[in-house]
Amino acid sequence: MPGVFAPLPPVPDHPALEREVLERWDAERTFERLREQNRAGPRFSFIDGPITANNPMGVHHAWGRTLKDVFQRYKAMRGFHQRYQNGFDCQGLWVEVEVEKALGLNSKREIEEYGLAEFAERCRERVAHFAEIITEQSKRLGMWMDWDADYYTFSDTNIEYIWRFLKVVHERGWLYQGHRATQWCPRCGTSISQHEVYSGEYKELDHPSLYVRFPLTDSEGESLVVWTTTPWTLPANVAAAVRPDAEYGRTAEGEWYAVGCLPDREFVERVTGADLVGRPYRGPFDDLAAADDVRHRVIPWDEISLDEGTGIVHIAPGAGAEDFELGRVHGLSVLIPIDESGAFYDTYGPLAGLAAEDAEGPVVESLRERELLVEAGRIVHRYPTCWRCSTPLLFRVVDDWFISAEEIRQPMLEANATVEWTPAFYSKRMDDWLRNMGDWNISRKRYFGLPLPFYPCACGHLTVIGSRDELERRALRGVDGLRELHRPWIDDVVIACEQCGEEVPRVPEVGDAWLDAGIVPLSTLGWQSDEVVPGGYGTGAAEGLTSADLPDHAYWEEWFPADWVSEMREQIRLWFYSISFMSVTMVGRAPYRRVLTFEKLQDETGREMHRSWGNAIAADEALDRMGADVVRLLFSEHVPSQNLRFGYGPAHEAKRRLLTLWNSASFFVTYANIEEWRPAWGQTPASEHSLDRWLVARTNRLLTDLTDAYERYWTPDVTRAFDAFVDDLSNWYIRRSRRRFWDGDTAAIETLWWSLVQAVRGIGPVMPFLADHVWRNLVAGACKEAPDSVFLAGWPEVGAVDEDLLAEVADVRRVVELGHQARGDTGIKLRQPLRRAYVRGADGARAHAAEIGDELNVKEVHFDEGPVARAQLKPNLRLLGPRLGQRLRDVKAALDADEYEELAGGGVQAAGEELAPDEVLRGERLAVEGFAVAQDDVTSVALDTALDEELLREGRVRELVHRLNAMRREVELELTDRIVVTLSAAEADLADGYEGWIKDETLAVEVRVGQTLAIEKV
Ligand SMILES: [Zn+2]
Ligand SMILES: [Zn+2]
Repeated sequence: MPGVFAPLPPVPDHPALEREVLERWDAERTFERLREQNRAGPRFSFIDGPITANNPMGVHHAWGRTLKDVFQRYKAMRGFHQRYQNGFDCQGLWVEVEVEKALGLNSKREIEEYGLAEFAERCRERVAHFAEIITEQSKRLGMWMDWDADYYTFSDTNIEYIWRFLKVVHERGWLYQGHRATQWCPRCGTSISQHEVYSGEYKELDHPSLYVRFPLTDSEGESLVVWTTTPWTLPANVAAAVRPDAEYGRTAEGEWYAVGCLPDREFVERVTGADLVGRPYRGPFDDLAAADDVRHRVIPWDEISLDEGTGIVHIAPGAGAEDFELGRVHGLSVLIPIDESGAFYDTYGPLAGLAAEDAEGPVVESLRERELLVEAGRIVHRYPTCWRCSTPLLFRVVDDWFISAEEIRQPMLEANATVEWTPAFYSKRMDDWLRNMGDWNISRKRYFGLPLPFYPCACGHLTVIGSRDELERRALRGVDGLRELHRPWIDDVVIACEQCGEEVPRVPEVGDAWLDAGIVPLSTLGWQSDEVVPGGYGTGAAEGLTSADLPDHAYWEEWFPADWVSEMREQIRLWFYSISFMSVTMVGRAPYRRVLTFEKLQDETGREMHRSWGNAIAADEALDRMGADVVRLLFSEHVPSQNLRFGYGPAHEAKRRLLTLWNSASFFVTYANIEEWRPAWGQTPASEHSLDRWLVARTNRLLTDLTDAYERYWTPDVTRAFDAFVDDLSNWYIRRSRRRFWDGDTAAIETLWWSLVQAVRGIGPVMPFLADHVWRNLVAGACKEAPDSVFLAGWPEVGAVDEDLLAEVADVRRVVELGHQARGDTGIKLRQPLRRAYVRGADGARAHAAEIGDELNVKEVHFDEGPVARAQLKPNLRLLGPRLGQRLRDVKAALDADEYEELAGGGVQAAGEELAPDEVLRGERLAVEGFAVAQDDVTSVALDTALDEELLREGRVRELVHRLNAMRREVELELTDRIVVTLSAAEADLADGYEGWIKDETLAVEVRVGQTLAIEKV
């Protein structure tokens, strides 16, 4: 039978269905039409945090991209006009490191030999390549974006906007060059800023643990003992620190330690740390040229911990951050032992050229020879590594460029107070970060990144260039070859100092990549841009990659700040921080009104995903094997403030749950086709049948809940509301209405159609493929006037919710559930009718006695009578012991004997004592003779389990009908086929009195008696 609706297969093939929908969206320009439809609507401004176009998209990216798409789709269904601009992050260390790997380059020297122009070209190619791949993956995920108008952070336009920011920062006096010890990656050859150190991993690393003697030179035979895990820093030692208020002791061997560190040692002399301060000692590597002018001495330091080590700390200001600060306070020499690549400088004698980690052996050997080594062991401890290449970080003293955070801190805190965070507690996380943020280290000693427009002249004047125009005006030479604002081309441009007129080259450094992403709320929206330049954003390296316009200031006014942004929680100290920093600096406001943030993605056992551990799931694989809707459902149903366990197990479970919806749709299609029923677009059900009225109310409740959850940007409530609805639809409405569908009741068909359609519209943002697939079948294919996509149909109108009716049916369902539970406890099959059920505490169910009887297969349902199962009570000794003392024994005996009375409010009266609810512990419910009882806090259902002749016979009839229908399915009869039934002699008695029933229930035209039970199609 062809029918109006396409029959559904038993199980949906998600990936196949999704590819079909993608093709249709493409062919029918669904997204473009949606945008046209909403063009005059109210604005919803979303700003995309850029994804790094450096590798294929990972499943963790798919999480964020799903959430972005869910809410953009929801807003679109509500008629909002949106920008849909996707962003790619394109430059900086992450791209460089991958290109280095691909080219087999291993150091900065090798990059320079390869050639910076070639290197920049390769970086751009990599970005272009992966931008394309990520675009295809995102489309496959169902993400609707304006894919021809992406922003690329390496466009000259973006770079110029950052230059403007840097110029303003300089004018305000926040820009400075800092000489300080910073974490350094010897492989990448650059310093690593505070937020990057957090992004890196702390690894459990095995390091040496050395106790080293520093001989005091003012007293023969005495020495300080220090502890270190970084032998490479010993040649840079200039001081030893002690805690002035701590007690120090000298052993018989002449070694000084903090007493607190070695409480069991015997000391021949004890002094305070303050007494040791100022004493001179011989350094561990005094014979090296580097140590020539160093006068080693003991200095005070209050921060020394006595939990580990010796309480005497070796200080090397050129190789540690705290050491450097102490060095400043005490005017110590700064010995910088290692160069950019982490190798010792020439002035370090036999160590020259060795990598820091390779110096361990020679250092230990040399100390041992000179009898300075007290003890050498190993220690495994947590140690920071480079976030890009995993190399353990070192400390180096270098000159970096910083933006002072002091003046912007308070305005940023105030701006954050205007932002609504979801979940709300992340607002405080942001505040914490802002309160503690250090100055922003913006320089990287690298190649393919934002060229810092700093031109420091020998005369002391610093010129900061704010635009390409300005650069060209000020340039003495080099602009002719300036094809884009990147190294090496920009390095050829030399300007004249605005103070003294001397020639000044640019500093070699490039910028922190968070500058690139941080400027986006200004650069992509055309802040202070005079006119719209069509295609004007795709400049420099971005030329040819995007047709994004450069809008004008009026546009910026319309779209800034973003109504909503959404990124991972770690972006608090990265993107949320950098866009806030730059926006508050330039325009004095937060760049976003609302944020949804989410935690980390793990594998399904709760471990982090790593390609090298073999537990990572590639996004392509997830989309191909699970289907995009299922992937999106997993992300949407998850509470975003908790880590998400992602994998095939949860995906399988989600698919299984989706079957309930699928089966309901399939059920509808089956019976609607039998009746050749055809819907009209816009029709709403008007049936007066109580189940239909209930389903309409239930559907409106769903839409109310969904609207509320979407408006709160809280997808877990979206999926929870949807799941509960689907359960009600299938396990109540359809189950209760089966017979009406068999009978071809078009009111039921119409109501079910309407309800399914509304539900599918409501879940569309989460599962766009399934929703549009079902829409196509149930609506667009059947009604000519209907929009051809669910996304063009707008958000469904939500009717009034009949709360009383919903409450009634909720009561009924609770009674039925308890009734089933009680039956389950007795082991009496549902097909066996029972005589009576007694219900207490479900007032709403009173009008539905027949339905309850039908559901529970009982003849009579009585309200507010019948037995209640009492619980075995025990006294709460902790509370009652002190209160009752001797009398407790009587109370306990009364409770044991079940001699007590329940009081209103949950208390109990026993042995003349009134016991509060918390003074009794409720154990198992006691069985009631002759009844099966189940109850919750409010409601109890008791089934009379006595069976008489008549009940038993009816039970057999039901069993028979069940078998006959199973036989119908076995021989694959159509639902409408009629049969002749033959009963065996053993069942012959059932025809008497039940023949009509058997015929009705099995679509039989005749019931005969013969040898064996059989059916035959007529
Ligand atoms: Zn590195
Ligand atoms: Zn000058």
